[in-house]
Amino acid sequence: GSILHWPATAAHDKLLGGLLADGMDEGSCHSRYQSAMYRRNAGRDPSPHLVSKLRRHEELQRRCGPGTAAYRDAVESLRSGKSGGGDIGSSLECRYLVSISYRGLGNRILAAASAFLYAMLTDRVLLIDPNREMEELFCEPFPDTTWLLPPGFPLTNYTRFNVDTAESYGNMLKNKVIKTDVAGDVPGAQLPAFVFINLDHTSTVEDKLFFCDEDQRVIRNIPWLVMRTDSYIVPGLFLVTGFQNELDLLFPETDTVFHHIGRYLFHPTNHVWGLVTRYYDAYLATAQQRVGIQVRVFGAQPESPNLLEQITTCTQKENLLPEVIAAGEPAVAPRHRNFKAVLVTSLKSWYYEKLKSLYWEHATATGEAVSVHQPSHEEYQHFGARSHDGKAWAEIYLLSLTDKLVTSGWSTFGYVAQGLGGLTPWVMHKPENESAVPSPPCRRDVSMEPCFHAPPFYDCRLKRGADTGKMVPHVQHCDDVEWGLKLK
Ligand code: GDP
Repeated sequence: GSILHWPATAAHDKLLGGLLADGMDEGSCHSRYQSAMYRRNAGRDPSPHLVSKLRRHEELQRRCGPGTAAYRDAVESLRSGKSGGGDIGSSLECRYLVSISYRGLGNRILAAASAFLYAMLTDRVLLIDPNREMEELFCEPFPDTTWLLPPGFPLTNYTRFNVDTAESYGNMLKNKVIKTDVAGDVPGAQLPAFVFINLDHTSTVEDKLFFCDEDQRVIRNIPWLVMRTDSYIVPGLFLVTGFQNELDLLFPETDTVFHHIGRYLFHPTNHVWGLVTRYYDAYLATAQQRVGIQVRVFGAQPESPNLLEQITTCTQKENLLPEVIAAGEPAVAPRHRNFKAVLVTSLKSWYYEKLKSLYWEHATATGEAVSVHQPSHEEYQHFGARSHDGKAWAEIYLLSLTDKLVTSGWSTFGYVAQGLGGLTPWVMHKPENESAVPSPPCRRDVSMEPCFHAPPFYDCRLKRGADTGKMVPHVQHCDDVEWGLKLK
């Protein structure tokens, strides 16, 4: 386009089509407004309804967040154990959702994104548990306030809440402390000041009634929720009839929920952004095409020649990388300056070494050169080590900047990269038989959305078990985790 047009386009891109609020401090978070410059794939546009909902939600976070009178009142009533009236029309001005941070970085990102969507749908203030270096990894997403739960939170043991906690929603139902048939809409019914929403892989049938309309009507009136999940619960929210209208307006394209929420919420801090941009500029920027390959190896799993073969056959069959010529065959004249860059991420370096040798020791059938890169190999998964999580976050982000992406099934690390990048990945499935290479070696996913690994199997209206992958049109089972649910 003409030079006269490009500043306007650039401004549009910088704010990702209005997804991001304008005017936030650039120095304290370079990535927020620079990310668009690094994305060749501009991604999908947010709906006008989502844009205006985000601005209204930012207003709520500011009005009710830490440091405000409303926040002080709400904390005080939590400390004294009062629900602020206990009936509908609670005297408290604002309601809150505290999201616990635990497990790996991918899990934490999916949990925070899920909590944020739920907070938007129910007009709650989202506060993030600051444990596990959340502040060192992510910039503040909301203007003029903080999303970090401040010190002095009255529920001092909240990070140790688990399936046995008496205040979990499931246990309160089981013990008849809360009754869905009378409480909630009945004035005067006593509701607790807070409830623990247990939605990790340990959650019980009663905990999962969270995904029912009746239960949402009760939960709505409880001022404080503390939620723990390691999963992307968003497909479950699409099962709640009461949320469906709003979700349709927010996301006319149902396969873009994490894409938009992820790009809105998760901006690498300046330290991590340095890791991302230096690596991108040095190794990836000048390639004609970037191919990301996420090789998730679990525990002390050995170097697997089968997995290596799965990677090479997948990338060659799907035309992501060129085939190589056997020794002795005539080589194609090299196409100068035409090269593909491969970004490998893995805890191990073995796969990267093998791929790099493959494309060094053999000519390609197309004459293209292939460069292979891997930023780190941390060998083992650590929990909560600063430099470890910073590198993991940088690598997730770098994967999201590639043009084509191959991921390992089951991995939330890969889910986050595909969603941020707007990339529908080719997924390498775990082999059923460890001694053989799966056939096909990889399959194109149905959408870029993450998979919800621990969904409910329940029909709320009929009050009995049911296949939730068959209830609403856009929620179906995942390809990689067969009982999981995903949006398409
Ligand atoms: P998941 O376990 O694959 O679902 O992904 P998570 O991100 O939740 O947890 C895995 C953790 O292991 C990550 O947060 C990293 O700390 C580490 N990890 C796994 N794969 C990689 C990798 O390719 N690169 C780096 N730097 N860390 C990784």
